[in-house]
Amino acid sequence: SGIIAEDKIRALFPILHQEVNGKPLVYFDNAATTQKPIQVIDALKKYYEVDNSNIHRGAHTLASRATDYFEQTRNLVKQFINAPSTEQVIFTKGTTDSINLVASTFGRKFIAEGDEIIISTLEHHSNIVPWQMLCEEKGAILKIIPIHDNGELDLEAYKNLLSNKTKLVAVVHASNALGTINPVKEMIEQAHEFGAKFLLDGAQSTAHLDVDVQDLDCDFLAFSAHKVYGPTGVGILYGKWELLESMPPYQGGGEMIKEVTFAKTTYNDIPYKFEAGTPNIADVIAFGEAIRFVNQLGKAAIRKHENQLLEHARERCATIKGFIPIGTARDKVSVLSFGINNIHPFDVGMMLDASGIAVRTGHHCTQPLMERFKIEGTVRASFAVYNTIEEVDRLVESLTKISKRKN
Ligand code: PMP
Repeated sequence: SGIIAEDKIRALFPILHQEVNGKPLVYFDNAATTQKPIQVIDALKKYYEVDNSNIHRGAHTLASRATDYFEQTRNLVKQFINAPSTEQVIFTKGTTDSINLVASTFGRKFIAEGDEIIISTLEHHSNIVPWQMLCEEKGAILKIIPIHDNGELDLEAYKNLLSNKTKLVAVVHASNALGTINPVKEMIEQAHEFGAKFLLDGAQSTAHLDVDVQDLDCDFLAFSAHKVYGPTGVGILYGKWELLESMPPYQGGGEMIKEVTFAKTTYNDIPYKFEAGTPNIADVIAFGEAIRFVNQLGKAAIRKHENQLLEHARERCATIKGFIPIGTARDKVSVLSFGINNIHPFDVGMMLDASGIAVRTGHHCTQPLMERFKIEGTVRASFAVYNTIEEVDRLVESLTKISKRKN
C-alpha cells in the first residue's frame, strides 16, 4: 500500500522473518526500539572483521580508517538534524545519557537556587529524574506543564508558567506513551522570550518527523540511535555552539583533554570535551548505515506510510467492544495506546504474544502521565516503516477475540 514498497523493505530486516508461538512475528514495539536493517548489522560485523581499532590517536592505517568512518557518522548526523557544524554533534550512550549530560554540566554551571525548570506531564522518566536531582542539589524549582484529557499539552498553562525565573524548558517532541506531537517550535520561541534555554527530547520524533535544529531553534536536542533503526548504546546530544563552549566537561578522562599535568589540565575543544574515554566506535559507525537507510526512504514517505497504519488501526479498533484509547490527540506519531475494559494491560500483552504480536504494556516509563489518567498502564502498539496493514488487521482480530473473553 502507498509509496513504501513493503516487501523490499521487509527483506532488509532479517528479524521480521520468524515465527513466534507458531505465528509469523508482528513487531509492534517500535517505540521501545526499532529493528535493524541488514546494512546496520553488516556494518557491525565488517567493523570488527576489518577495521577494529581505537580512534583519534593511532598513527596506523586501521586507526585512521576507523576514525574516518566514526567521523563520517557525525557528519551524517549533522545533516540529519541540520546542525550548523559537526562540532555540535556529541556522541553519548543514549537519550538518557544526553539529558544527564546537560543536567550535570549546563545545570552545574547555570542553575542556581530559586531558578525554575519547566518540564511536562508527558515526559519520560529520563526527562524528569535528572531535573529532580538537579533541583534538589541546587534548590531550584521544577514546574510541570499539565495536559488536556486528549493528551495534548495545556499551552495556556505553559505560557503562565514561563517567567524570568525560568532557566530551562525540557520537553518531549513526541510522547512515547501516547504519540502526541507537541508544537515545540512555538514553545521554543515562547521560552526564548524569557531568556530560557530549551532542551528537546527527540527520542520518539527523529525516526518519524523532520527534526531541523536550526528551524526549531532548540538549544539542545537529545535522541537515541536505537529508535532510528540503529544500534543500542549510541545517543546524540546536539547543542548550540556558545552553550557547549561555556559548559564544563561531563566526565574526565582520555580524549576530552588538551594537556594534562598534575598542576593543571586543559580541556579539548567541542565535541571531544564531552566524549571522555573510548566511545562506542562500532555502533556509531553502524548508525551511519541506519541514517542512510532513513534518508533513502525519506521522512515524508515514512510518515505517510506510518500514518496510514495508525489511521487504519484507530478506525478499526474503535469498533472493538471495550476498547479505550488513551491519548486522542489529532497530531500523533505512530503510537496507539489503549486499554481493554476489565482486562489488565499485561494480560492483553500476554495474549497478543501468544498470537505472535509484540506490543509493550505498562507505564512506559511515564508514571506521572499514567497517574494523570488514573490508570496503571496501557497496551501500546507502535508502528515503523516495515509494518503493514495486514499486520494491523491481525492486531485488530486478536484484540477482538481478547475483548470477547471477559466483556
Ligand atoms: N525519552 C523518550 C520520549 C523515550 O521514548 C525514551 C526511550 N523509551 C527515552 C527518552 C530514553 O531513551 P534511552 O532509553 O534510549 O536513553
